[in-house]
Amino acid sequence: MSDGEKDRFGDKLREVEKAREDKFFADRDRELLLKLKSPPGAQEEQSVRDLAKMRCPKCGDRLMTLTRLEVDLDECPNGHGVWLDTGELEKLSAREGSGWLSRILGRPS
Ligand SMILES: [Zn+2]
Repeated sequence: MSDGEKDRFGDKLREVEKAREDKFFADRDRELLLKLKSPPGAQEEQSVRDLAKMRCPKCGDRLMTLTRLEVDLDECPNGHGVWLDTGELEKLSAREGSGWLSRILGRPS
C-alpha cells in the first residue's frame, strides 16, 4: 500500500468513526428529548409494564405459552390461570358450534 493509499484509507476510517459518533450522539439526544417530553411517572409506568409483561398477575411468575388445538394459551406454571390472546377465544368458539361459549360471545347459533 502506497503512502497515498494509506492516507486515503486513514481518512476513510476517520470518516466512518465520525459517522458512528454522530449517530451515537444523535440517538442519545433523541432519547434525552423523549425523556424530557414524557409526563412525570411515565418512565416508571413503562418500567412496570415491561417487568409485568407475560407474567402471572397473581404470583408474578413467567407465563408459559402452550399451543393446544392450534390455540395459543398463556398459562401460569403455578396453576393461577390461563390467558388467551385477542381472537383466540373466537377461534375456540368457532370450533364449538352452538355451545355455551358461542352464546357468551354473542354468536348466532
Ligand atoms: Zn401464578
